[in-house]
Amino acid sequence: MAVQGVRGRFAARTVRVKAPGKVNVSLDVGPLRPDGYHSVASVYLAVSLYEEVAATSTTSDGITVSISPDSTLDLDGVDIPLDERNLAYKAAAIMADVSEHSTGVHLEITKRVPVAGGMGGGSADAAATLLACDALWNSGLSRDELAHLAAELGADVPFALLGGTAVGLGVGDELSPALAKAQMDWVLVTAEFGLSTPEVFRTLDRLREAEGVDGDEPTAVDPKILQALRSGDADALSRVLVNDLQRASIELAPGLRDTLGLGESCGAIAGIVSGSGPTVALLAHNPEAAENLAGELQHKGLNALAVHGPVPGARIISDTLL
Ligand code: ATP
Repeated sequence: MAVQGVRGRFAARTVRVKAPGKVNVSLDVGPLRPDGYHSVASVYLAVSLYEEVAATSTTSDGITVSISPDSTLDLDGVDIPLDERNLAYKAAAIMADVSEHSTGVHLEITKRVPVAGGMGGGSADAAATLLACDALWNSGLSRDELAHLAAELGADVPFALLGGTAVGLGVGDELSPALAKAQMDWVLVTAEFGLSTPEVFRTLDRLREAEGVDGDEPTAVDPKILQALRSGDADALSRVLVNDLQRASIELAPGLRDTLGLGESCGAIAGIVSGSGPTVALLAHNPEAAENLAGELQHKGLNALAVHGPVPGARIISDTLL
């Protein structure tokens, strides 16, 4: 149903939503399953680096996608498909299927989360699009129903919708929110290249096969991680950060070891590769220490950014009738 403006003309409406990127504070990866997936146990933390999607109703039938010039990433030579392979496109298509009053829609994405960086940027775009189209088309879906659709789009999409801190089991999609609201300060060091998540998992399988170890089937996360996050104890957290994928990311991109070492020598309490990488997350004691660390790393030529988390999941920031 197109919104009718004055004198019955079509009035376009734009709903703008922001959704956060994530850091995996812990990531235990099980052996390769017969279905080709890996079970994981992970603690997700939503951080203050946001994607934005502006969804505008159009009079045509289809879905179109563009990248906003306000994007803060250098996207030269970066592969972001703008057709039905884009996760935001897929999210709009799923919403159109379940909405009675869908229209054509244009999605303009402001990219800030590094592409193929292990921070779930595409998943944040998908979560933002679900929420934006839900509002645009008055679908009236509950958060639970949206989370259901999110899980169909990808393992990280439900978390981008939920935000905060959460434990993910299964393939990462069985999410339970964790009551851990204390703010932690981090510095993200982004790389100029991406790593393919499936390739990082394949590399881990290969490394384990060569060593004759399988990895255990993960069923829970270490409670010490949640305790540290609840109490805001960065030193305690630094002792329990874990990412089984880290050595596979380093195998594919050996420079990550130097980035981790440099971060620690410049004052980070600890560092970890985020998800499948190559983004590195460095833990700091407080906002000032994070800003100083980011400044020092920038001075050394790295792309570093101070962030904090947890932050809320996808939310509407404006809804305008044009
Ligand atoms: P994850 O940690 O969830 O595996 P990631 O953050 O490492 O993901 P993304 O930035 O989400 O990686 O994108 C991975 C690939 O997906 C890109 O290389 C790109 O080809 C494709 N893609 C599809 N939709 C998007 C999107 N909206 N933004 C960025 N990349 C997208």
